Amino acid sequence: MDIKDNSKKDPVAKLYLVDAYMRWALLAAEEVVGKQGLAVVLRSNNLERFIDHYPPELLKISGEITLGDYANLCAGLLTFFGRAGKSMVVRIGRLTSKYAIEKQSAVYNVTARTAARLMPSAMQVKIVLDSMADGYRKLYQDAGQELHFRVEDRGHSWGFVSVECPLCAGKKADTHICWGRIGTLKESAFWLTGKEFEVEEVECRAMGDPACVWEVSKTPKS
Ligand SMILES: [Zn+2]
Repeated sequence: MDIKDNSKKDPVAKLYLVDAYMRWALLAAEEVVGKQGLAVVLRSNNLERFIDHYPPELLKISGEITLGDYANLCAGLLTFFGRAGKSMVVRIGRLTSKYAIEKQSAVYNVTARTAARLMPSAMQVKIVLDSMADGYRKLYQDAGQELHFRVEDRGHSWGFVSVECPLCAGKKADTHICWGRIGTLKESAFWLTGKEFEVEEVECRAMGDPACVWEVSKTPKS
């Protein structure tokens, strides 16, 4: 696994991140690698300013954290874990969305969940993916930034498409690297349905694709 920095040439890395997203990712990472481990990751990825100083839980953009910073954290964790790190990064993604689900009622609507529970699995998954795509888009729009998320029908699965992917903004790699989102999508689908679904990243901007795409199966694991 080889991840290189390309942030000077990638305008996406200069876009601003919603502050709380960095906080939740840092809290989740700390749970998995410990405070010391996280400090090592932060120090070696130009993120020293976050050591013992997590951003506030603000669902707004203060303009102090970029998508490139978020990608530095994600890539830093992958490098820290090495080749066998995928499952750890997926776990961090799942933990991240636990915080997100608790605090983001606009994206994770409990009333919608109750109604959706009566529907077939494929529709339930579509509902949660649509509300993630709409919620993220709206949050960034409110802060004056246009970020594109959409859900595509890909036969046996739904494709979750993120054009300006925060996980790999400004990165170049020889493999897919946005595995944290696998965890977020799995946990979100689980939150709505109470079931586990297969999720895999199939296209990645870091490999030169136009967007990052994760496929979420329409049927739960048996
Ligand atoms: Zn990505």
